[in-house]
Amino acid sequence: MIEGYHKLTRAQQLQVLLKATGIDFSNLKVDSVHQEQIENYLTDFSLPEGIGVNLKVNGKEYVVPMVTEEPSVIAAASNGAKIVSQAGGFIAQSQRLVIGQLLISKAGFEVIDEYVKINQEKLLEIANAAHPSMQKRGGGALKMSARRLDTNKTSVDLFVDTKEAMGANTLNSMLEALKVDFEKHVVDVDMAILSNLADQALTVVTCKVPTKSLGDELAQKIVLASEYAQVDPYRAATHNKGIMNGIDAVVIATGNDWRAVESGAHAYAARDGQYRGLSTWKISDDQLVGKIQLPLPVATVGGSIGINAMAQLNLKILGSPNAKRLAEIIGSVGLAQNFAALKAIVSEGIQRGHMRLQAKSLLLEHGAPNDKLSEAVELLVSGGQINAQNAKKVVEEIRK
Ligand code: NDP
Repeated sequence: MIEGYHKLTRAQQLQVLLKATGIDFSNLKVDSVHQEQIENYLTDFSLPEGIGVNLKVNGKEYVVPMVTEEPSVIAAASNGAKIVSQAGGFIAQSQRLVIGQLLISKAGFEVIDEYVKINQEKLLEIANAAHPSMQKRGGGALKMSARRLDTNKTSVDLFVDTKEAMGANTLNSMLEALKVDFEKHVVDVDMAILSNLADQALTVVTCKVPTKSLGDELAQKIVLASEYAQVDPYRAATHNKGIMNGIDAVVIATGNDWRAVESGAHAYAARDGQYRGLSTWKISDDQLVGKIQLPLPVATVGGSIGINAMAQLNLKILGSPNAKRLAEIIGSVGLAQNFAALKAIVSEGIQRGHMRLQAKSLLLEHGAPNDKLSEAVELLVSGGQINAQNAKKVVEEIRK
């Protein structure tokens, strides 16, 4: 147990760490903003950022900043995006209402439902008074309704237009104000909190690729792959992981809350009781038609976006989109990523494309010098098994 770690000075914390781990952290870099941003700050942890290219959404071309530690994600997204762009690009649309909940168990559904219906106007006024500036900029609390959860549990759902913000804090302030009203006039509230199942902040993206440009057989195999993800959760989880490879990379690059996007996406994928793929592929009129639909409650202000210089730069790279446009770009990257992954899996297999990148990672891990990396990759790939032992041997060889 380390008691009161957060109350210690940095020097004292490093002493505690030295004692606990035997590691001297005194040379670690400190970012003065980040030091204030989280608790028990140690240092910064960096991830690579790359650019996805050839993405066309609603007729506009984008270069896309993507932050990921995984090799092949950016290459695959760019490859998928290029094929779709050549066929006209992605068509995307998004809506944005954030949902919050008052969770109640001490009164029956009918009592709560009636109170919400009769007092709708007053309740929305209370919610908006808790964050008046949101209404002033054209957003704010728009509606409320009661939903029966089971015999003794009800959710009162609040729907708020949070404009450019993700709105977690706005929602929570509004809900806490409503809780006070409920507890005064109706019943105690067990919890007042935002929901991450943001199914009123859905982004829908579609694309069409002529089957003849892919070959009929490949197009049919992609359709089959998408069908597996609709019927088997084991396959769906991996299908969706591939989609999130692209989505998370842009969500992180733009300073957004990727845990919120992840939890919303997976909850939405299981909305009818079975976990399914977030995208589908069908053939219609000689076109392979892809569609993805998922909650993307992303923001261009709020959270840490304003204090993260890279997030600011990355939003500029994207042409400073508003939150809806940003969601449409991110959803399109997800569909591009999914297209590239399915295409690879049903044709040459995922490993072939990954081989060189995997070899590169292994060689870097085993100390291959940058100026001899290409040579080392060739040696490792041509030498048969790509594994740690062979990577070590290749590094020794080229260092001679
Ligand atoms: P902030 O609390 O940073 O709020 C954003 C604020 O930006 C708004 O409240 C608004 O304040 C201001 N603003 C300025 N311009 C605009 C505009 N054009 N449109 C909208 N707002 C504008 O962030 P959020 O409330 O968005 O919450 C996001 C943060 O909350 C993230 O860091 C997230 O990780 C975290 N979080 C997430 C939870 C979850 O997902 N379950 C739970 C709790 C926190 P004003 O109106 O006063 O100008």
